[in-house]
Amino acid sequence: MLKVDKLDKVFNDHKVLDNINLDVEKGDVIAIIGPSGAGKSTFLRCLINLEQRDSGSVNIDGIELVQDDKKCVEKVQEKMGMVFQSFNLFPHMTVLKNVMIAPIRVKKADKVESEKKARELLSKVGLSDRVDYYPSKLSGGQQQRVAIARALAMNPELMLFDEPTSALDPELVGEVLKVMKDLADDGMTMVVVTHEMGFAREVANKVVFMENGKIVETGTPQELFYAPKTERTKKFLEKVI
Ligand code: ADP
Ligand code: MG
Repeated sequence: MLKVDKLDKVFNDHKVLDNINLDVEKGDVIAIIGPSGAGKSTFLRCLINLEQRDSGSVNIDGIELVQDDKKCVEKVQEKMGMVFQSFNLFPHMTVLKNVMIAPIRVKKADKVESEKKARELLSKVGLSDRVDYYPSKLSGGQQQRVAIARALAMNPELMLFDEPTSALDPELVGEVLKVMKDLADDGMTMVVVTHEMGFAREVANKVVFMENGKIVETGTPQELFYAPKTERTKKFLEKVI
């Protein structure tokens, strides 16, 4: 589904991603953990070309991401949905419109079909009773669930999450993680940057620990959390668990 090979990224002489290699199979849920500044966000952003890598390759679903090829970038971006820490909903559109709009604008999808699909997705994330609300009238957890529905409306093959619950009040984290878990149970392929170790342990089938732009250790949740191979992983986990 996704193959990243020897990816490097430099910001002002500082190598923020250093020889990143990752294989994601269809149906995988990969949790990326690690301290702030490790390069986790930059890594996700390179996958979807919001950031341009300096070397290495990204192959998604058989397509090699050629960064300067606009058509190719569009194709690759269509395969991925991304959810950010900040929800970035369109404030002047209702919840329903927020979810309908991208397929109509980007894919020239049929309006009636798009609305039907949007309602289904909003029902899936538990927001059937909020379709006519404006984002400002929703809690952070509800807004993030709309953001997830909006990403799903484009029918992505792969969902990328960048600390989707970090901006939420603690009591709202669970409802968003629940939606993500349901998505994983439905077989969605997901790469999730998270500080929620419970989620990483229980939902992910593979955990990647990053520090200083490098992948320090990769393993099953069992291996990483209960038998970490490196001192650095151990140290990090001691701090966060
Ligand atoms: P993480 O998501 O793991 O906290 P980031 O990917 O945000 O880490 O950042 C990795 C490193 O890259 C940090 O040192 C950060 O300061 C730097 N960085 C991120 N974005 C930029 C940018 N646009 N310009 C310069 N440096 C950046
Ligand atoms: Mg980040």
